[in-house]
Amino acid sequence: MIAREDIEAINNLIDSTPTEYSDFVESMIVTKPEDRLMENLLGLCEEVGELHGKVKRMLRDGTFDEEAILNESGDVLFYNIAIANYFGSNLQNLIQRNMYKLNSRAARGVIKGSGDNR
Ligand SMILES: [Mg+2]
Repeated sequence: MIAREDIEAINNLIDSTPTEYSDFVESMIVTKPEDRLMENLLGLCEEVGELHGKVKRMLRDGTFDEEAILNESGDVLFYNIAIANYFGSNLQNLIQRNMYKLNSRAARGVIKGSGDNR
């Protein structure tokens, strides 16, 4: 159950832009610069594992905790953006890159299949 003050805090963040979120992620980084990339990659793996765990319990136990799944998805996003920031990019840039790539694949009829360079 989400507390009322948490709901209000979440609602106050709803209008954040992708760039503001990227800046927020950067402000939360506490790792030494020399360890940053590896810590962010390990954090991403950890959070993807936690997301898998929530879905596994959903399949195994028949429980469905949408709030927990969405929270873990947010944790995955956090580390994804931390890595993008490390390489001088940001969420807005990732959105544009991904949409361009997928639109290009769709236009060329290669959405299905495999390989990075379709
Ligand atoms: Mg988590």
